[in-house]
Amino acid sequence: DGVIEHQSDEVETLHHEGNAQTIEGAITGISVNEGIVTAPVVLVTSEMPPVPDRHFGHTTDEIAHVKQAIECVVQRLQHQAKQAKGDIFSAHSMMLSDPELWQSVESHIQSGMIAEQAWLETLHALAEEYRHAETLYMREREADVHDIARQVMVEMTGAKSHAIEIKEPSILLAHDLMPSDVAGFDKSKVLGICLSEGGKTSHSAILARAMGIPAMVKAQGCLDAVRSGQMVTLDGFKGHLWFAPSDEVQQALDAQKIEWQNARKSALASAQQVAMTRDGLAIPVLANIGGPNDLDNALTSGAEGVGLFRTEFLFQDSEVLPTEEEQYQVYRDIAAALGDKPLTIRSLDVGGDKPLAAYPMPAEDNPFLGLRGVRLCLKHEALFNTQLRAILKAFQVQPNIQLMIPMVAQVQEVKKVKALLAHQAQQLGVDASNLPVGIMIEVPAAVLNADALAQEVDFFSIGTNDLTQYVMAADRGNTAVAELVNYFEPSVLKAIELTCAAGDRAGIPVSMCGEMAGDPNATQTLLGIGLRKFSASASLLPGLKAQIRQLSL
Ligand code: PEP
Ligand code: MG
Repeated sequence: DGVIEHQSDEVETLHHEGNAQTIEGAITGISVNEGIVTAPVVLVTSEMPPVPDRHFGHTTDEIAHVKQAIECVVQRLQHQAKQAKGDIFSAHSMMLSDPELWQSVESHIQSGMIAEQAWLETLHALAEEYRHAETLYMREREADVHDIARQVMVEMTGAKSHAIEIKEPSILLAHDLMPSDVAGFDKSKVLGICLSEGGKTSHSAILARAMGIPAMVKAQGCLDAVRSGQMVTLDGFKGHLWFAPSDEVQQALDAQKIEWQNARKSALASAQQVAMTRDGLAIPVLANIGGPNDLDNALTSGAEGVGLFRTEFLFQDSEVLPTEEEQYQVYRDIAAALGDKPLTIRSLDVGGDKPLAAYPMPAEDNPFLGLRGVRLCLKHEALFNTQLRAILKAFQVQPNIQLMIPMVAQVQEVKKVKALLAHQAQQLGVDASNLPVGIMIEVPAAVLNADALAQEVDFFSIGTNDLTQYVMAADRGNTAVAELVNYFEPSVLKAIELTCAAGDRAGIPVSMCGEMAGDPNATQTLLGIGLRKFSASASLLPGLKAQIRQLSL
């Protein structure tokens, strides 16, 4: 069905191109996200840093120079992959890890090109391939190649990574935008996005949708039709950019805008209410967050607490490990901002495929089956203890905190964590006995032994991202087996059902915090097999709540 979808895009493009001259005072394009906004224009250009004028060093130095830059970008992408629409960034990270790409860079360097030139040559060739690809979808990936090429160039040349700075609420006009640009936007300043290129399936468009920004693409000629600072109205319903509307048109647009704003307000307002099924059961809906910046959005989207706080960001953003005090402040502040709603802090979940710059670890042959999550923490106690102490201290002032352990496979692992926790509490002279301790259920061993694990912990949270890959024995990042990585597989559903039943028998709550929890197409199935608590990214919560209200158990 992918093909059909892409074909219809082609048709739409032609249709709109045909329409291009028919509206006076507006540029027409393709709508990618609904909404009407009026604001001054900011014109954005994102250029490739130039190849520096320097002599060739040693081959090994040149190679190391590119390697380092790529590693830096991959780390950042893997961090971004943890956020909304993270799959785009995982895909970019995978593009950068392609051995063929690397071979080409290396051979250019061996033929005497400096690192920056070798990188650009390679990526230009790759972009060229995409530009001539058969399907529209593949052609739109050219922008992705340009994006990763530029990020690595910025890293190598030390050129100022020009995070687009926007001072007042504006509508952005650009040729095309990079996913890395869109991800860095301050949503309160970017009211709308209009691209002269791009496409419905381009990643910048997907991100704009995820962020809820009214947007349109393929607005050909828009950059020439307006100047910076000019007031325009973007109609994201129709895909029109009005630069010279008649008074009549402007009035109609203003009325429509008010109608849209009211509808949005009421959707958000109902997100603040509990999600009750048709047959009257209230289903708690919580948020997944990656850091303090996600909190506002989570609360305005109706989160009834945080079901998953991925603490990795604290560790991945820096060359040095965060201190106990730094961690304590972050945990305490987030918990305080939540009032009496729960904050579920997941202990450090890195290792193998997610290296820590500040804590280098030997490479593994099968990183997904290696030293990940709790396994790594138990092998590196000092690293773990610092986090446990920070959590214990924050818990003393914020009793809404609970601890969640990832990648648990054995009862023994839980016992070890609890022993470390008790020891640290004793050293700090605090009481840890009330701190709820739960585990992620994301390893098949934990499902099969859920009854015994339930005796040891206060809650379960099902991580379907990993559970699916481990149940199906199919790497979640490997496109060759992507069909197997499907949480609707009967075996995965069975694993979820078994987990819910074990939780019920032991009388402990079971929630889900993997991507499946936020998928409205999965909600009925999940309620049917016993799930009663959901945690998903903020932008998905209003829709998820609306979906729950339509369903019966
Ligand atoms: C999961 O595995 O489902 C999960 C929520 O954790 P992560 O995606 O961070 O591995
Ligand atoms: Mg996981």
